[in-house]
Amino acid sequence: MIVGVLAVQGAFAEHEKILKELGVEYLELRNGNDARQDFDGLILPGGESTTQGKLLRELDMFEPLQEKIAYGLPVLATCAGLILLAEELSNDSARYFGTLPVKVKRNAYGRQLGSFYTEEAVGDLGKVPMTFIRAPYIESVKAGVEVLAEVNEHIVAVRYKNQIGLSFHPELNEDRKIHQMFLDSISHQDLKAWTQKAI
Ligand code: GLN
Repeated sequence: MIVGVLAVQGAFAEHEKILKELGVEYLELRNGNDARQDFDGLILPGGESTTQGKLLRELDMFEPLQEKIAYGLPVLATCAGLILLAEELSNDSARYFGTLPVKVKRNAYGRQLGSFYTEEAVGDLGKVPMTFIRAPYIESVKAGVEVLAEVNEHIVAVRYKNQIGLSFHPELNEDRKIHQMFLDSISHQDLKAWTQKAI
């Protein structure tokens, strides 16, 4: 198994450290050629979504990655990554991959409250530590989207088909349940079914 990690900006090194610790091979995605390689899962890290979106276009990575996600490549998207996946942003006219049918609010907690720590249950994983940094939350979801976690009545984790979207940063804590859930979803999927169709 090899996981592609978008490595143009933001907290990609922290995700890579966890993959290494869990014994999973990864590929840093820095240009269009990397994005066209064959890999079994994709991590979209936190950071700054406007910058990431711009770099994805400039580095010729946008189309190959969008296509792979649309064809079913398993994705774990955290914070800015969630913004990249969202079909709609409620407070921004930008739209990036648009493969996750949810409406996301950027910087949803305001400047002061933008960064905080809490613990909440995620799906059937039990309590998970959650670090929020100038975080978005999910305002609404469309049919087929499974809500995995809420904090103060706001949705902060969802799953839709091959895509897991999180408002928080699981890579900044010691708990590995989220990464394990993602890696399990890769193992359980017919890996080659989508790569044959892609590109
Ligand atoms: N506020 C950032 C954005 O809108 C996301 C923050 C994060 O990834 N920690 O892109």
